[in-house]
Amino acid sequence: MRINSPLTIMLATTLLGSACMKAATTGAALRTDAQPRCGDKNGLTEEQVREVVVPRVKEISACHRKGLARNPAIPFEINIRWMIEADGGVSQSAVTSSGMGIKEFEECVKREVTGWRFPRAARRSDITFPFVFKDEASLLSAANQIYADLEELVVKTPSPRNSRVYRAIADTLAEIKKARIKVRVLMTLPPSVFEGVVFDVVRDKDREYGVISISPYVVDIHARRPSIVLSAIVHEMQHARSYAISPAGFKDKKNSLERYLYERDAYIIEAEFVRDYILKNSRYDPTPFERFLEASLREDGFRSFSIGMLGHDMEIARTLYLVSEKKVSHAEKLAEIEGTLERLLAKPILTKGSPWDLYLQMVPIYSALQFTPQSIRYVNAAHGKVAPGPWSVKGAHPKLWKRLLDLESKFAANRALYFDYLQAIQKKMSEF
Ligand SMILES: [Zn+2]
Repeated sequence: MRINSPLTIMLATTLLGSACMKAATTGAALRTDAQPRCGDKNGLTEEQVREVVVPRVKEISACHRKGLARNPAIPFEINIRWMIEADGGVSQSAVTSSGMGIKEFEECVKREVTGWRFPRAARRSDITFPFVFKDEASLLSAANQIYADLEELVVKTPSPRNSRVYRAIADTLAEIKKARIKVRVLMTLPPSVFEGVVFDVVRDKDREYGVISISPYVVDIHARRPSIVLSAIVHEMQHARSYAISPAGFKDKKNSLERYLYERDAYIIEAEFVRDYILKNSRYDPTPFERFLEASLREDGFRSFSIGMLGHDMEIARTLYLVSEKKVSHAEKLAEIEGTLERLLAKPILTKGSPWDLYLQMVPIYSALQFTPQSIRYVNAAHGKVAPGPWSVKGAHPKLWKRLLDLESKFAANRALYFDYLQAIQKKMSEF
């Protein structure tokens, strides 16, 4: 299949993002000494730089097109570095990454950038900005190929038609063909497989659409490591399917407990896709992330993935989610929630041991902090005790609120044990 209706894929802008944004998400692709100080009160802010640069991307694009006409080897991604003096003028500029020594191109870029005027600031700003130039047609056709691959792999080959994975993929592809779900390449997404594939609901005039957006980076990754991109798209397709089935229900998922359960669901579909289609197909070389995801579903019912990648304790989430449905009194339900908090408060935090063990003792605390307020609200709602108007745990149950604050202090005192490990494992899993 080819999704070639011009309406189904939209291109946003040819701008990927400023160095600040990019540095925050990858940190690897840029020279660390050449980043603007985001929000520095003396230099220009990222906002101020973007406001001038975004409308002028066309000028840099024109240099790129002219350069390409002379030399097709010019890369599609370049970094341009320039210096903005306090008066807002540009004093120096250079193509810092792989301009391939194509003089006319670099001269053209320099000429444009030195003509830009920025707002005044108290000090000079050193800016590095990544630009991605893509031939739109080739980018769109590469993006289409991702959906075509999924259709080939899942819909056009004999598959169990009633499996959840099959339904998530086949139903969403059908929605895409009918343009009820749109797909697009969105240049402003970060260059990351995890953050570069997103499902959202957007309003366009008076219509509302579900949209799966991917970054150009993800399109590139698909060419060399297709399975991780397919898996990520399947995850978003599960979100798209939930939205298609119940748009109101989808938008209702506002609190962290429902969002976690909902994310967990999409990861389980993704894991089943890896199990049923990626691992069974010798053409693919699954990434460590995909192997971890699938192994966790198979070996421990998703527990280690939930703890390691999502930072949540499923058991605590489950306990807090289900308490409202128990056939016991309101007071007994609240006592159960309180008991959960008391147990976590009573357990000492060890500060010596393996990073995993240290991290592990923090995860249930984190989940309890995230999910308890919603759990209390569910319990009250089940007993008709949530009056209309503002409601807070603090106002409704001061004693439980106090215990939550105590638990929060306990977490805060040891937060590095949690965040350092979580960030390390997430980083490790995004390398392949
Ligand atoms: Zn998700």
